[in-house]
Amino acid sequence: MVTGSKYLLKTGSQQYLIDCGLFQGSSEIKAHNWDPFPIPPSEIDAVLLTHAHIDHSGWLPRLVKEGFHGSVYTTEATCALLNIMLPDSANLQEQDAAYANKKGFSRHKPALPLYTVEDAERALKLLKPVHFGKRLTLKEAHFTWRPAGHILGSGMIMTDFETENGARRLLFSGDIGRYDTAFMAAPTEFQVADYLLVETTYGNRSHSDIDVQDALEPLIHEIIDEGGVLVVPAFAVGRTQEMLYHLHEMQEAGRVPDLPIYVDSPMAIDASSLYRQFSEDHNLRVDLLDDPEGGPLRCRHVKYVREVSASKRLNHQPGPAIILSASGMCTGGRILHHLKQRLPDARNTVLFVGFQAEGTLGRELLEGASEVTIHGEPVQVRAKIRVVNALSAHADREDLMHWLSRFRSAPRKTFLVHGEPAAREAFQAHVRETLGWETTSPELGQEFDLD
Ligand SMILES: [Zn+2]
Repeated sequence: MVTGSKYLLKTGSQQYLIDCGLFQGSSEIKAHNWDPFPIPPSEIDAVLLTHAHIDHSGWLPRLVKEGFHGSVYTTEATCALLNIMLPDSANLQEQDAAYANKKGFSRHKPALPLYTVEDAERALKLLKPVHFGKRLTLKEAHFTWRPAGHILGSGMIMTDFETENGARRLLFSGDIGRYDTAFMAAPTEFQVADYLLVETTYGNRSHSDIDVQDALEPLIHEIIDEGGVLVVPAFAVGRTQEMLYHLHEMQEAGRVPDLPIYVDSPMAIDASSLYRQFSEDHNLRVDLLDDPEGGPLRCRHVKYVREVSASKRLNHQPGPAIILSASGMCTGGRILHHLKQRLPDARNTVLFVGFQAEGTLGRELLEGASEVTIHGEPVQVRAKIRVVNALSAHADREDLMHWLSRFRSAPRKTFLVHGEPAAREAFQAHVRETLGWETTSPELGQEFDLD
């Protein structure tokens, strides 16, 4: 599935965990967060993370709570992002547990959080930053991160180790970004790997060729004409900046008039400094990032909302306005309050700019639900639901095929991971037809010999 990413690599005497993601979505999927870990976490020698998204990093505090005490290696930018994201994720876990206790719907009495802010703080202490392109040697394996072009700091992890039959290279793609975006650099391409794990989130879909700004412009004019509010579920760092980047460009080109824009998240930050500090894997002009006038992320009339009280006041904000808020898949956070407030009004638009996993509220809305449940209450959906896939941080089918086609020959084994069954099956057939490669779709918990 697309959440809960975790891969355990066992060599002679060492056990490395690549990614430590939280399961997100339906209660059935989320229940996996409570599964006992297949080995005692204290026996894991090191954790290596591809990127900061919670579905790749958000189980780390739980792993630490259950006894992991080794080091966690990932890129510098990912470390910076995790310092924002893991405490926030812990907050949501604590709120969920408190809410379950209040409503009495948990099987556990009292309901306990999966982990606490304190657990998250302990996990953050284990972080060890690595540089892109620099080989990290940990006893029986070597790891090298290469830019994946997905979000700030995202990497593919090239892993080299010895077997009885000689040296082997295993490549973890992590989440793969898009080619040809104005924002992030293209994903790193590889020519050789013995084994490959490749993500397939959009393995069965092509993002339309339509230009992002061409797609956004009519949506914004629509809310201006109708006096509506455009609500965009997006995490505070990543899609939010990409939206601001396009809004800035459109303001500069006179394509859209000025209107109030709110970035509403407890983590709402002007992320310009992060993009300046970590400039290796994005295309933004670093010299302009701090320019209050011409900075590529500096829209006019943008307000960053940190306080809860200010966030609540946004409920009374008349249209036209744009509200960007997390979480991106509507699984928690302030976006829920905005949806509750704005969904019943037909003048408003909810715009999805990222993947919505099975079982999430975002997916329900995308699939056309006429009524949804938010905080236990029914909410009518009259607002327009739109999607601009071209803003996705994920490679589409064509991007994935292009990336695979750069390999000189088929890896010994290619594992299709991080995709829902329909996406993996369609992609498997497409790879067989186009490249002639046979691929493997592993099940949760399945083991393979890489000899
Ligand atoms: Zn991701």
